Amino acid sequence: MPQKSAYEIAVEQFDNTLPYLHLDPGVAEIMRAPKREMTVRFPVQMDDGTIRVFTGYRVQHSTAAGPAKGGIRFHPNVTLDEVKALAMWMTWKCAVVDLPFGGAKGGVVCNPKEMSLRETENLTRRFTTEISGIIGPMADVPAPDVNTNSQTMAWVMDTYAMHTGIQSSAIVTGKPIELGGSQGRTEATGRGVMISALAALQAKGIPIQGARVAVQGFGNVGAISAYLLQDQGAIVVAVSDSRGGIWNPNGLDVRDVLRYKAETGSVVGYPNTEAISNGDVLIVDCDVLVPAALEGAIHAGNAGQIKAQVIVEGANGPTTPEADEILNGNGRLLIPDILANAGGVTVSYFEWVQDLQSFFWSEAQVNARLQQYMSSAFDQVYAISQREQVSMRTAAYIKAISRVAKAIQLRGLYP
Ligand code: GLU
Repeated sequence: MPQKSAYEIAVEQFDNTLPYLHLDPGVAEIMRAPKREMTVRFPVQMDDGTIRVFTGYRVQHSTAAGPAKGGIRFHPNVTLDEVKALAMWMTWKCAVVDLPFGGAKGGVVCNPKEMSLRETENLTRRFTTEISGIIGPMADVPAPDVNTNSQTMAWVMDTYAMHTGIQSSAIVTGKPIELGGSQGRTEATGRGVMISALAALQAKGIPIQGARVAVQGFGNVGAISAYLLQDQGAIVVAVSDSRGGIWNPNGLDVRDVLRYKAETGSVVGYPNTEAISNGDVLIVDCDVLVPAALEGAIHAGNAGQIKAQVIVEGANGPTTPEADEILNGNGRLLIPDILANAGGVTVSYFEWVQDLQSFFWSEAQVNARLQQYMSSAFDQVYAISQREQVSMRTAAYIKAISRVAKAIQLRGLYP
């Protein structure tokens, strides 16, 4: 059977929720596809003097609830289809956590691992220039995503300022602290995953103390989720990155693995572990699984082998609808991406608020508010799932789509 694309999956998840909502079909049609899709092709001069032409995208799915919000990823496999799915998921994510934002996503087809810092800067600045007509602090606010970070955001901010003359730090979130970034933003997605995992374990009656955790993906989301869960008393038995995985049933020292990866470029080869594949990490014996890599990792072919009772989606779209059905049928509790990894965009919202006021909060304030937003969203989604007897994914979609539909109806149509 041909694999469904990320966008086909996003639309299927949307359509699967409609029967619970009794929406005006016209309002549903507005939300069923992105509001705006921009494709740009632009040249960058490489270090050896040659010119390379890159393709990039910025998709705004919705601005009904506020400015569009979402990251920019740099990856060789970026497609318009994928960016459309990710933009749609951002709309629902912001709505699940009650943030006053719509949803967007950007991506550039490139391999930053093979590019110098200067080439990456030039690419970032030219891409920002190409999309500068549709982004803005009150229009569409980018953030980091796969293979982009606070330095990338600093370049976006500076380029936007060069074009507009507006020195607004609220144009992007996930910036360095020195440029108006927020305390706690770097750890926020991982912290939100940890908060969601704790709440899910509690719902399942599994103590965090000694709970065994496996994490696929050892980037900003996966690595931070792993050490924060370890700090809570969990035992991290397996982790992986794009090059492969490592396994030790007695537990890994996650911060030391992080140090090893910083030195060697990968977790692979870490001492006193058994080498496993990036796919095997999903099916090791554990209580909590955190898929924190890319889309489509958990599919019909491996969902039945997953041993974890609790799955917390650190990545966006890691589980196909077929796998969802298998996991639900096996009684697993899956906390969906639009809830589980919403900690990042929640602290992005805090950053944007701080930037607009030029008044900054302490890390303790940020973390306390993040805890409040995440716990409240989790409790509301859990209550819907109990009331409607549906999965946490469908419950999160029920909450998110109703909220966006309400915003669309209240605004009315123009003209
Ligand atoms: N890229 C992150 C996500 O997928 C963060 C988006 C943001 O902070 O705007 O949720």
